Amino acid sequence: MSSLSLDTIKKLPKTDLHLHLDGSLRIPTIIELAKQNSVSLPSTNPKELFEHIYAGETCHSLEDYLRAFFEILLPVLQTEESLVRATREIAEDSHQEGARYVEIRYCPHLHANKGMPHKTSIEAVHEGMKQAKDKWGIEARIVLAILRHDMTIKEALEIAELCCEHKDLGVVAIDIAGAEDGYPPKRFKEAFDLAINNGVGCTIHAGEGYGSDSIKQAVHDCGAMRIGHGTNLYQDPELQTYVAQNNIALEACVTSNVQTRVAKNWADHPVKQYIKQGITITINTDNRLVSHTTLSDELWGCHRHFNWGTTEIRQVLLAGFEHAFLPEENKTRLLTEAARDIDQIFNSL
Ligand SMILES: [Zn+2]
Repeated sequence: MSSLSLDTIKKLPKTDLHLHLDGSLRIPTIIELAKQNSVSLPSTNPKELFEHIYAGETCHSLEDYLRAFFEILLPVLQTEESLVRATREIAEDSHQEGARYVEIRYCPHLHANKGMPHKTSIEAVHEGMKQAKDKWGIEARIVLAILRHDMTIKEALEIAELCCEHKDLGVVAIDIAGAEDGYPPKRFKEAFDLAINNGVGCTIHAGEGYGSDSIKQAVHDCGAMRIGHGTNLYQDPELQTYVAQNNIALEACVTSNVQTRVAKNWADHPVKQYIKQGITITINTDNRLVSHTTLSDELWGCHRHFNWGTTEIRQVLLAGFEHAFLPEENKTRLLTEAARDIDQIFNSL
């Protein structure tokens, strides 16, 4: 294994394909937005507020992990201005650590508590991405999520329709998020079909809060082109071969998995084996704030705990660009530039 420093990792071109808008805010922004929107917070002291939001290195369950979203994060994201700002800052923070492309995901229903129309929230996120692109050159796109534990089929179809109608505002894919156990993806097949048949990408949270059966449904019944997490894929060797042979990328979020106890610790995380078995791996943050992580921290963890050297790091970085939900032309340009710059950085070591 070649030795890498965190400084070198920070310079590498990156993507974040699994990035939740509401879980990736800055602490000072939450405090300011709460003040502007008369939202009461458990504390306005930055350190104390962070303690309320951060679920700790490990938490009891996915539900425990999600608590801060409903109590603190979503209440400050109910206006157009707050969404523009949050999106712009997430793109800026990603850019500061080398990201050139991010897909920001959110569920419009969760931002409609004060009546904001779904189209308005999409326009706001689009505006935030545009401001970030103009200032820092970072490309961003939107993934709209169905909430599996809290939505009817009709509401899920509405999300699929929003995806189809707002491609011009940067919406590139549909997702399904929320508590996985008891809410198999197949239930929402109709929504995925509608999106996919209209040229929308499809990624599905699966194999995080439930076993490999959920991944099986996502791939075979729902047409997922990427899998959010896919951590429990090892439970089904046949499916594992299928996922590898069909180049279905896993959006790995290791810190988040350790936090929610999907994996015992970094050293035992199955991604370490998946890459050896020819499965396409991308490295992502999930929630920059709630998981208290960055892309560089995730890659640094892969280097230290999985012994990944320049070969594996290059492979996962380029996989992020290859599996972006972008038209071939844009993707090829980003990929070519990233490959060139990664090689230049590694050759200079
Ligand atoms: Zn997620």
